[in-house]
Amino acid sequence: AYNFCAGPATLPEQVLLQARDEMLDWRGTGMSVMEMSHRSDEFVEIAETAEQDVRDLAGISDDYAVLFMQGGASSQFATVPLNLLGNSASADYVNTGIWSEKAIAEARRYGDVNVVASSAGCGFTTVPDQTGWKTRADAAYLHYTPNETIGGLEFDFVPDSGKVPLVADMSSSMLSCPVDVSKFGLIYAGAQKNIGPSGLVVVIVRKDLLGKAHVKIPTMMNYQVMADNASMFNTPATYSWYLTGLVFKWLKDQGGVSAIGELNARKAKKLYHFIDTNPLYSNPIDPRFRSRMNVPFILADEALNSAFLKGADERQLLNLKGHRSVGGMRASIYNAMPEAGVDALIFYMAEFAKERG
Ligand code: PLP
Repeated sequence: AYNFCAGPATLPEQVLLQARDEMLDWRGTGMSVMEMSHRSDEFVEIAETAEQDVRDLAGISDDYAVLFMQGGASSQFATVPLNLLGNSASADYVNTGIWSEKAIAEARRYGDVNVVASSAGCGFTTVPDQTGWKTRADAAYLHYTPNETIGGLEFDFVPDSGKVPLVADMSSSMLSCPVDVSKFGLIYAGAQKNIGPSGLVVVIVRKDLLGKAHVKIPTMMNYQVMADNASMFNTPATYSWYLTGLVFKWLKDQGGVSAIGELNARKAKKLYHFIDTNPLYSNPIDPRFRSRMNVPFILADEALNSAFLKGADERQLLNLKGHRSVGGMRASIYNAMPEAGVDALIFYMAEFAKERG
């Protein structure tokens, strides 16, 4: 089966097989990782190895803390402003879709949020040209969403935020291609797309941004506290952390982010090419900003939607139904989706178009 779910998403088969093999007895300890104390030498090794591996993969220097937090990416929509707004109490946000909007709405509960640019007017089909962004030099940070998972819109550039720290919700793009982490003040990513199981959220924060949290911030949300306690202020999501570590090792085995980035580009290119050349299918996004991870498409005749999905299910091409707010179809093709999965999808789409289009 090929699972095109946007998240929780397909995990590498090797990772699942290894987790299965180690499920009852992790390396002769007689315990499942799920049963280990987070303070045990064994788990601390698992945790530290995962952190080192993601540092290696993403090229994260010691200037940054890497945190393994809980509550998914949505909890970061509040955690970011509560930690970073500081005295300025104002922040800039770019609005390119549903996830940007959610981040903006939550940040507005804590401070003065300025939307510097928005592509809402055109239905989020493009990224607003940075020359027109109304950024403020005194903003505490500039937030954007490099890949809008629902709309299928992806930045092909890293915004220039000047001296203002750049904050990115990389939930659906982290580790999918090389990124220069040094351009960012903070990156967060819910794990359930390219990293591991849902609930866990990886936060990469420049250390000079720590220690500015709101006095009433819940302790569990305080990046400084998390950093000081190696993300173990409370009992962390140990099993998710372990699985994430397995995904990082797998990614290293694939040749790291450069190699997976090339593969991802190839997968996306062939799927978009097929969509663009077959009259039954279309994708509304400005070609320059089409997501490499989430490929929404609509059928020219919507009455065919359920037949399309039924046929896909029969061929074990799973979870192709588009997000409820957008409709149509969406194929999420994250790191763990093999090229053969994309080929199988294209084969089916062509067959369906020939018979029913
Ligand atoms: N941000 C983006 C870009 C997402 O794609 C998602 C989830 O799909 C979220 C935030 C929310 O993540 P979570 O459900 O882990 O809170």
